[in-house]
Amino acid sequence: MTIRRAVTLSIGDELLAGETLDTHGRTIASALTARGCRVIEHRVLGDDASGIASAIESAASSADLVVITGGLGPTLDDVSREALAEAMNEALVEDGEARAHLDRWYAGRGRVMPAGNIRQAMRPVSARCLENPNGTAPGLQARLGEALIVVLPGPPKEMRPMLDGVLQAELPGSPRPAIVVRAFGIGESDAAERIEPLMRRDTRFPVATTVSRSLLSARIRGDQGDDLDAIESLAAQVEKAWHPFVFGRDEVTLPMALGTELARAGRTITTAESCTGGLVGAMLTEVPGSSGWYPGGWVTYENARKIEDLGVGAELIERDGAVSRSVVSAMAEGARRAAGADFGVSISGVAGPDGGSKDKPVGTVWIAVADDAGVDARCFHFSGDRSVVRDRAAKSAVQLARFRLRGDGAELLWQRDVRS
Ligand code: ATP
Repeated sequence: MTIRRAVTLSIGDELLAGETLDTHGRTIASALTARGCRVIEHRVLGDDASGIASAIESAASSADLVVITGGLGPTLDDVSREALAEAMNEALVEDGEARAHLDRWYAGRGRVMPAGNIRQAMRPVSARCLENPNGTAPGLQARLGEALIVVLPGPPKEMRPMLDGVLQAELPGSPRPAIVVRAFGIGESDAAERIEPLMRRDTRFPVATTVSRSLLSARIRGDQGDDLDAIESLAAQVEKAWHPFVFGRDEVTLPMALGTELARAGRTITTAESCTGGLVGAMLTEVPGSSGWYPGGWVTYENARKIEDLGVGAELIERDGAVSRSVVSAMAEGARRAAGADFGVSISGVAGPDGGSKDKPVGTVWIAVADDAGVDARCFHFSGDRSVVRDRAAKSAVQLARFRLRGDGAELLWQRDVRS
């Protein structure tokens, strides 16, 4: 039977209490969608066997596939196994192979198996156990009416490979091809206007846009392998329309894009950060191989550090304030000189919630990029709380560095035209 419609259930009181974020819902939905199976419902349920059993019954009557995660552990509040047996109206029996796996698991670690763990080898009579290479709890696979029911353990490093195994077996064929174009520094409505005809729902592969942590994505999904040329052409159209804000595709991050371009050009960059306190440095060093183009940088939070470590003139700070064109320019140049790097990028701003003034309200941030041709300093006004301001400032600095490297002068969203 072809699997087209799925229901997913995440089990655990800790999910309902807000202690653990239910990320499995998203992980499983995107894996199923990529294989052409639509998730028609997702529910989060507490550790109550009867409640889970009735959710399984109702899901099995409307979907071809029901994926349940969590509640397979050894403790008494782990009841997904019992719930499945109740929904199937079957008794639980010990599975010989699952029991042998448990015995081997504990013997291999020189530990005695706690009595409670024996429950993990139980399965409803007609169900089968799914091997768990990374933990003690086997998964379960069963039929209820027409529907295929799969129960997977909660810990992500156990759940994910088991999910992949089930999907490969039950939804064979290559996943639907998809391309995600990623951009930063352009507003969502402006971006949508630029590609409006491509987003229309009546086109064959409508382009969908989303924004997450100020990063804009355009997702283009085909139905089968043959659609690759068609979605490639759409992705190229989006890239052209969003130029120069596009920094990459799929898993490419903004700092990764900068790093690739620096490495290709054989150039290096250093950082001097005030209100972002090292966020740019952290982003750059997240990229494997960043030591090839990032020697390091400075966090110069108080004025004395800007003056002593970077050689910023005290009179500039006195005259213009620490959040100003002159100071941020001197920071970028000072850092570049001291590190002997090709580019110096600097940030100084008012991240809030305090410290704002009429002239420089909270969210005012100056960012500069210096190279051997001079300095490009720009003023931004970011809305949002302290963490949003800092995050947007750090990403804008990375994007501005890319622009400088490519000789692009485009204005980023949030930029303000001010002189000093
Ligand atoms: P265990 O043997 O660890 O008890 P289990 O199958 O009973 O396995 P749970 O106890 O429900 O799984 O969850 C174990 C851990 O897995 C949770 O503490 C949580 O960190 C993670 N987890 C469970 N469900 C989810 C979910 N829906 N989203 C993200 N993480 C989850």
